[in-house]
Amino acid sequence: MIQPTTPKQRKQLDHDLAILVKFVDIYCRRKHTTRQRQPFEFGLCDIKEIYGRELRLCPSCKKLLCHAITKRTHCPMDPKPACKHCPEHCYHPKYRQQIRKVMAYSGRHLVLTGRLDYLLHLLF
Ligand SMILES: [Zn+2]
Repeated sequence: MIQPTTPKQRKQLDHDLAILVKFVDIYCRRKHTTRQRQPFEFGLCDIKEIYGRELRLCPSCKKLLCHAITKRTHCPMDPKPACKHCPEHCYHPKYRQQIRKVMAYSGRHLVLTGRLDYLLHLLF
């Protein structure tokens, strides 16, 4: 894992990862109710510390979140632009499409339930 060099970068990274986790969590819990979901664990970061609780995902959402976390953790841009404004689209096209669907769905859900705080620093 590339360690952020300043506390500010560290905070920004944790913040971004928490949003990613939150959005994939909402999407998977609401859309993949018939799939078997397993506790999500990932070597690059401590999900429980970032998210504050255990996360369970289906296999395809797990793969997507792993990809997203890896990309965000290794982002070489400093300061990091919002992904949609970035000149380098680093996501694999398959995951890029998937994460956009997740962001759109969960973003709408958060708006409808009045939890706008998550949308202030949208990644996508
Ligand atoms: Zn899922």
